[in-house]
Amino acid sequence: MLKIVLTLAVISAVYFFLIKKPKVTQHRQTRAAEKRKPKRDEEIMVECEKCGTFVSSHEAIIVDGKYYCSKTCAGVR
Ligand SMILES: [Zn+2]
Repeated sequence: MLKIVLTLAVISAVYFFLIKKPKVTQHRQTRAAEKRKPKRDEEIMVECEKCGTFVSSHEAIIVDGKYYCSKTCAGVR
């Protein structure tokens, strides 16, 4: 009987160890992803200074603090 209990204990220990390990890795990855994405970098829609087209802040070209939809509107090459 003691052998069965011991075997079960070992199996559950190994099982717990195997299950727990990927979870820790996953948690670390989530944390790293959060770090990589600052909150102030949230995507917002901005209006092009020249033609009035709305573009996302990630795609917009900023020249002298003004947003432009494309390089053509921004006047840069
Ligand atoms: Zn434009």
